[in-house]
Formats: sequence, C-alpha cells, structure tokens
Amino acid sequence: MINFQSILASINEAASTENDRGKIADYIPELAKVNVNNFGIHLQDIHQNSFSAGNADERFSIQSISKVLSLSMALGQIGEKVWKRVDVEPSGDPFNHLSLLELENGIPRNPLINPGAIVIADILVSQLEYPKKDFLTFVRNIANDDTIDYDIDVAESEKRTGFRNFAAANLLKSYGNLDNEVEVVLDFYFHQCSLAMSCAQLTSTFFMFMNNGKCRRENIFLTISQVKRINAIMLTCGFYDEAGEFAFEVGLPGKSGVGGGIVALLPNKFCVATWSPGLNPKGNSKLGMLALEKLTTETELSIF
Ligand code: GLU
Repeated sequence: MINFQSILASINEAASTENDRGKIADYIPELAKVNVNNFGIHLQDIHQNSFSAGNADERFSIQSISKVLSLSMALGQIGEKVWKRVDVEPSGDPFNHLSLLELENGIPRNPLINPGAIVIADILVSQLEYPKKDFLTFVRNIANDDTIDYDIDVAESEKRTGFRNFAAANLLKSYGNLDNEVEVVLDFYFHQCSLAMSCAQLTSTFFMFMNNGKCRRENIFLTISQVKRINAIMLTCGFYDEAGEFAFEVGLPGKSGVGGGIVALLPNKFCVATWSPGLNPKGNSKLGMLALEKLTTETELSIF
C-alpha cells in the first residue's frame, strides 16, 4: 500500500525550503498580488480518499486549467463537431502565440492554447442561454460544490490588459471562426479563466477524468471515448511548449495555468493538484512540476 500522505508531506517539506520559486505571472495585474511562498498539494484516489499538504485548501485562479472544463462542456453540447473548428495537435509554441493561427487559416492548433479556447468559448456562448451562469453551474455540478465561483477582480483585470487575446479573437473573426462578437466571447473567456479553486476542489472537479467520465456522485458527464480524447489532449497539449517535458518527467495527462496551478491524473487510480504561483520560463508552476515529478518517481505510478 502506498503511503500517499507521507509522500505529500515530504514533497511539501522539500518545497518549503526551496529558494528559487519561479516568477509570478504579472501580465494579469491581479495575479501579481499572490504570495510566491504558497505551496499546496492534494491527491484524491479513485475511492475518494483524500491526502493533502501545505496550502491545499486555499483558492487561487485556475486560469488555463478551465480550458479542459469548457472543452468538456462544448463536447457535451455539440459533440464531434467541435473538431471542425479546432485541431488536436500540440503547438510547440507558448499559449498566447498567434503566428500558427495565420499559417493555419484560423483553425487553432488545439483547444488548450488561447485561440483554441476562445473558439470553444464562442461555441458555448452560441449554445448556452446564460453562458457564464450555465458554465458555472456545470462546473459546480461536476465538483458537487456550490461554493466554486468566478473571481470578478481577476476577470476584470484581464479584460483591461488582455491585448493578445483581443488580437487572437479578432484574427479568428477575420477567418470566420468566431460566430459571436469579440467582446462577448472574451467576457465569457476571461470569466472562465478567473474561476477560483483550491487544490482539493480541483481534484474533485477533475475526478471524472480519472473515473471514465463519471463524477464523484457517479453521474455521467462524458463518454469513455470523450474522456480518452480529453486526456490525450491534456497529455500532448496541456503544458504550453513544455508538454513533452511534463510527459517525460511526470508521465501523466494534466493541465497547468498561469495562476500556478497544475492538475494531473492517472486513470482509475488518482487525481492530484498542486499550487505554487511562481512559474518557470515556459509558464508552468516551477515547484508544481518538481512536486509531480517527485510523486510519480516515488510511487512509481504513471501512465507509462
Ligand atoms: N487567461 C489567461 C490568458 O488567456 C490564461 C493563460 C494560462 O493560464 O495559460 O492569458
């Protein structure tokens, strides 16, 4: 029997003595207010046993991690038609690069880079009656947690400074791959990215990706085939242009966000989330990556 609790405690111990903690994302001014010394880790196994260490219950901005949730909702709404508007190839580029979009005629490389997630946001804005409210309800239902909410200050902060996302949305519009108004789609997108969750809440939300599409209450949100696809996209595209490194070092499908969160999972075994707001030069949480590498090395558990 693996003693997850003692492994998490030793990971937290190692993180607390680390001096080089990476750099906090400050291009969204509201994110820069977070203390770089935070570190949290939470693991939930398939039997819903929970283990945690550090600031695992403190909420932070999940940012790009939300892209997996919006993709899941869009797949539920329009199914395979999603793939007519966004591809499934890793980009090898940072999350906010626009060059590929031009080269590929307005079809984003994958749904986890910004232009791809903006197309997914457009699909949801078209499909949902009250997009922000309905998406929040979807996330709360998956997590079975009505306390999950948007952080309006973060959403407004990004709206004021999200120039590259405005550029991406306008480019998509020029290629005919955005049905709704740029401002409306980005308002939804900035709110989705502002979702605040703790590591513990993230493992409850992502439980269904390790449990064949069934949430903790056993309600079915995704088919087995959809879960396979989403986990494959997380593995190949979930870490900006460091997805290869994450697969190499950690060996789990997962997704990171510029708020410093990472969630990763081993199908039918466990889901784990880390939070440390300092990022490495590729935009992934520096200590979060190290923590997960230590976890899969010590437990000898990975998809490989
Ligand atoms: N809202 C952020 C942006 O669009 C998300 C980036 C991220 O977490 O990767 O810039």
